[in-house]
Amino acid sequence: NRRLILASRPVGAPTAANFALQETTVPEIGHGQLLLRTVFMSLDPYMRGRMSDAKSYAEPVAVGEPMVGGTVGRVQASNHSDYRVGDWVLSYSGWQDYALSDGQGLIKLDPAQVPPSYTLGVLGMPGFTAYMGLLDIGKPQPGETIVVAAATGAVGSMVAQIGKLKGCHVVAVAGGAEKCRYALERLGVDACIDHKAADFADQLAAACPHGIDVYYENVGGKVLDAVLPLLNTGARIPVCGLISQYNATALPDGPDRLGQLMGTILVKRLTMKGFIIFDDYAHRYDEFARDMSQWLSDGKIHYREQIVEGLENAPEAFIGLLQGENFGKLVVRVGDD
Ligand code: NDP
Repeated sequence: NRRLILASRPVGAPTAANFALQETTVPEIGHGQLLLRTVFMSLDPYMRGRMSDAKSYAEPVAVGEPMVGGTVGRVQASNHSDYRVGDWVLSYSGWQDYALSDGQGLIKLDPAQVPPSYTLGVLGMPGFTAYMGLLDIGKPQPGETIVVAAATGAVGSMVAQIGKLKGCHVVAVAGGAEKCRYALERLGVDACIDHKAADFADQLAAACPHGIDVYYENVGGKVLDAVLPLLNTGARIPVCGLISQYNATALPDGPDRLGQLMGTILVKRLTMKGFIIFDDYAHRYDEFARDMSQWLSDGKIHYREQIVEGLENAPEAFIGLLQGENFGKLVVRVGDD
C-alpha cells in the first residue's frame, strides 16, 4: 500500500520535497467496513490550500498524513451489506492505493453508464462548480458576453460550453496557442486570448466589443486587471478561484488597486460573489447531474482528460497544474481497473 504524504508545508510553489512516498501494509477491514482500491485520483487546485496551515474554509492536511482528494476505485473487500467486491465507487480516499471506509459519503458508480473517471470531472465536483457558479451567480442571458480564464481546464471548459449553450458570446482566456486553438475548435468559444501575449489586455478588449456581462473568476491577477475596465453596468462575477495567487508569498508589486476595484464595484453596480461548491450548493446536485448527463449524451459537451500514469507521478503533475502545464482535467491513474 503506497501513500503520498505531506512531508513539509510549501513556501511559494510546492516542490517534490514537500511530498514523500511511503509503503505501508494494506489495512484489514473491521465490522461494517470495506476496503477500497484506488483506480483514479483527481488533482485539483484546492489541494494547494490544504498543504498550507493558513486559515481557510477547510482544515489543512497534517504534516505526515496522506494528501486528501477525490478518488474513484473498486471495492477490494467488504463487510458492508450495501457493497460487494468489485463495485465501483466515488470516494475521498486521498493520495494512496488503499483506504478503509464505513460506507459514509461513498457513491456507487455504474461503469456501463459513464466512464468512472468522469465523476472526478465533467460529472463531478469541477462540472458542478462550473454549472452553479455560472448559472446561479453569473445568471447569463442570451447575447451577453462571458469571459472565463483557465478556459481549457476542468471548470473553465465547462463554463465556456454552458455559456454557449445559453446563447452567450463567450471569450476564453488560456495559456498558449495550442490551448486557444482547442478552445475555438472543440469548445466552440467565439474568441480565445492567450494571457501570455504582451498585448493581452488590448486583445481582450477587442474581443469584447460590447463589454463584459459575466466574468467567471478562476485566476485573478492580470486577467482580472484586464477585465475590470471592460465590465458593463450590472455585471456579475462568480468568484470561483484565484489560482494565480495560490503560490504567492507576498502582495503583488505596484500601487494598491483596492480603491479602484471598490470604485468599479460601486459605479458599475457589480455583483461579486464567492462560493465553495459543496458547502453552498450540495442541495442542487441532482439538477446539475440531470442537465450535464443529458448534455453529454446529446454530444453537446466536449470533455478532455489528461491522465497521468502512476501515483508516484502525482506530485510533479500537481506542481505543474499550478503553473498551467495540464491540458484538460488532470487525473492520475493509480491502479488497474
Ligand atoms: P484547471 O484544470 O483549470 O487547471 C488550472 C489552470 O489554471 C491551468 O491549466 C492554467 O491554465 C491556469 N493557471 C495556472 N496558473 C495560472 C496563473 N498564474 N495565471 C493564470 N492562469 C493560471 O483547474 P480547475 O478547473 O480544477 O480549477 C479552476 C479554478 O476553479 C481554480 O481557481 C480552482 O481553485 C477553482 N475551483 C473552485 C471551486 C469552488 O468551490 N469555489 C471548486 C473547484 C475549482 P492556462 O494555461 O490556460 O492559463
